[in-house]
Amino acid sequence: MPAHAPLAIRGVTVSYGEKPAVFSVDATFPAQSMSAIIGPNGAGKSTLLKAALGVIPRLSGEVYVYGQPVAKARARIAYVPQRASVDWDFPTTVMDVVQMGLYRKVGLLGRLGGQMKAHAQDCLERVGMADCAKRQIGQLSGGQQQRVFLARALAQDADLYLLDEPFAGVDAATERAIIDVLKLLKSEGKAIVAVHHDLSTVRDYFDHAFLINVRRIAEGPVDDAFTPEVLQATYGGRLASTHLDELSSPGTRR
Ligand code: ADP
Ligand code: MG
Repeated sequence: MPAHAPLAIRGVTVSYGEKPAVFSVDATFPAQSMSAIIGPNGAGKSTLLKAALGVIPRLSGEVYVYGQPVAKARARIAYVPQRASVDWDFPTTVMDVVQMGLYRKVGLLGRLGGQMKAHAQDCLERVGMADCAKRQIGQLSGGQQQRVFLARALAQDADLYLLDEPFAGVDAATERAIIDVLKLLKSEGKAIVAVHHDLSTVRDYFDHAFLINVRRIAEGPVDDAFTPEVLQATYGGRLASTHLDELSSPGTRR
């Protein structure tokens, strides 16, 4: 029998009101792999990720993480939220943010020992933010904040990494730094699932693609699932068809 997938979504429907944001979705995200969740604005991408985390109620369906119901497997998941959704009005240092990733490890001991602090500092180092530990998070650039969120996810030592548009509004150097960290995680056997909006980098960055517009449109290895026909079905008239051909033909891989 094959090992359980890092993330299996089965018949999940989520609704905030009368109209479902995600309808009857099945998805299976593979191990040791970078998977992209792709779809237009309002397609339910963030909602699907939150459902996968088990933090919003489902109308129906189940989520399994390495074969376990998500409620029992939360400790194996790290989550980097969509940056725009986080508001840092209160003063918090970069080190505070990274240490939030450690609360599960700290557990009953209740306070962070020197070893935990060293671990947090090491995670900042991995994203190139070692010098910023004492800075206020609200004063950093968007790219720097995104690196800090990634450091927090790294601090958790999770097996499954869920990221919501990790490259939105970040500078090119940060995008490179983030992709390098994610590729290293993948080489260590971790599973990465990211909502991704830049269609031009899908082929460069990802192995597996899941396309959604409330319902599942397609899913599979990027070469099979990320096709002009599928993009047309996902985005409808919102992308010009010549643009679609350019984006999804294998010859354009950079
Ligand atoms: P995406 O991430 O693909 O842009 P979302 O999952 O954020 O889409 O949203 C899907 C749909 O659900 C949208 O129509 C959005 O307006 C709606 N929605 C998202 N979050 C909420 C919420 N907390 N309350 C009500 N409606 C919401
Ligand atoms: Mg979103």
